[in-house]
Amino acid sequence: MKRRKSTLKRKPLGKRSGKESKNKKAISRLTVSKLKKALDGIMREIIRIRDNNTCQWCGKSIFGRDSQPSHVKPKSIYGFLRFDEQNIKLLCLHCHRKWHLDPLLAKDWFKLRFPDRYEYLEKRGTQQKQWKTWELLELIDKKKRQLK
Ligand SMILES: [Zn+2]
Repeated sequence: MKRRKSTLKRKPLGKRSGKESKNKKAISRLTVSKLKKALDGIMREIIRIRDNNTCQWCGKSIFGRDSQPSHVKPKSIYGFLRFDEQNIKLLCLHCHRKWHLDPLLAKDWFKLRFPDRYEYLEKRGTQQKQWKTWELLELIDKKKRQLK
């Protein structure tokens, strides 16, 4: 009888603390994804200015929805290159589609057009990245200063 009581007392406590840490993790994941989106927005501005609102493939002037920052190495695999200017170029909607439809053609084009960037990106290899809140905050601050 005594043993049972103490087990019952302990169990809910353990459960509660488990839930609390799960909630904390969920909140920090939410923050990280919000910060990533904010940083994507800042990068979009940086890339549009650097590439002079011009599609880097066909040379057309692009604005609004037609103006699309596009990653060279996909951010799903190369998470650590997500906010690296070297890994983003501005494309029009049409060329962005072409980029994804024909990766080999796209790779050849990029290599020829930006040999230095191609080499730099090849050297970086594959590496997933779990961005930390403080890293993202620091990067947002740095990139915002770059925009001024
Ligand atoms: Zn284009």
